[in-house]
Amino acid sequence: MKTKKWLTMGVSIVAISALMLTACGSKDSGSASGGSAGAKSASVMDEIKSRGKLVVGVKYDTKLFGLKDPASGKVEGFDVDIAKALAKRIVGDENKIELKEVTSKTRIPMLDNKEIDMIIATMTINEERKKQVDFTDVYFKAGQSLLVKKGSPIKSITDVKKGTKVLAVKGSTSVDNVKKQAPDATVLEFDNYQDAFSALKAGQGDTLTTDNAILYGMAVQDPGFEVVGEPFTDEPYGIAIKKGESALVAKVNEQLKAMQSDGEYNKIYEKWIGKTPAK
Ligand code: GLU
Repeated sequence: MKTKKWLTMGVSIVAISALMLTACGSKDSGSASGGSAGAKSASVMDEIKSRGKLVVGVKYDTKLFGLKDPASGKVEGFDVDIAKALAKRIVGDENKIELKEVTSKTRIPMLDNKEIDMIIATMTINEERKKQVDFTDVYFKAGQSLLVKKGSPIKSITDVKKGTKVLAVKGSTSVDNVKKQAPDATVLEFDNYQDAFSALKAGQGDTLTTDNAILYGMAVQDPGFEVVGEPFTDEPYGIAIKKGESALVAKVNEQLKAMQSDGEYNKIYEKWIGKTPAK
């Protein structure tokens, strides 16, 4: 049911992206970075094929989606498994992948600089971002919520008022959303989710806000904290690809659909999300 919904939604997103591609034309070809005027630079899809591996920007700070274990050095989570499944399907081997760390703030600049082929990092599809990147179909649906220390008087967004210190992460939709919904609260912004969570644990704020699925990951890390209230936004996640790379967007969408119908998507979903209330 849940996955059907994102596929349907994805179809309209593809239609919108297709329109945008037509509107933007081939603005990138012959750009300063692409060499001599008129020379068409290779598409990202061609580059992936010739280098034989996928370079994906994932989070290193987000339990359940992309978290680096400092002891083993391994990066694991839902987004990481989606990235590996795409590597298997696009370059033939799930190990033909290079993961690079992105944060909410660095992910679009890194894609723009061609440091990564795509962003798979809890990234919400929205109109503003669609001006900067292209998105695939929706592959996960989250909604913004609040994390508090158990016993906190904050039970929902209506309790976030003047004097409430809210912790959030730079470059996330969560900052703008909470400023809109609780304009009198004080928002403190951090570079990444582990720093924000450490600040909450150290008592530097009353609540941490971002997507419920990310907050559930923190509550798993420290059961002294809990997610409260109903989600107060919609955060549909998409894979972001550099603007104009329509062949790669089409390939990824095709493989996301295949993953959904052959059961691989559900396996990954169950592994990471199935045990949380985000389900
Ligand atoms: N999904 C939200 C966003 O894209 C919050 C999670 C994040 O910071 O990546 O901004």
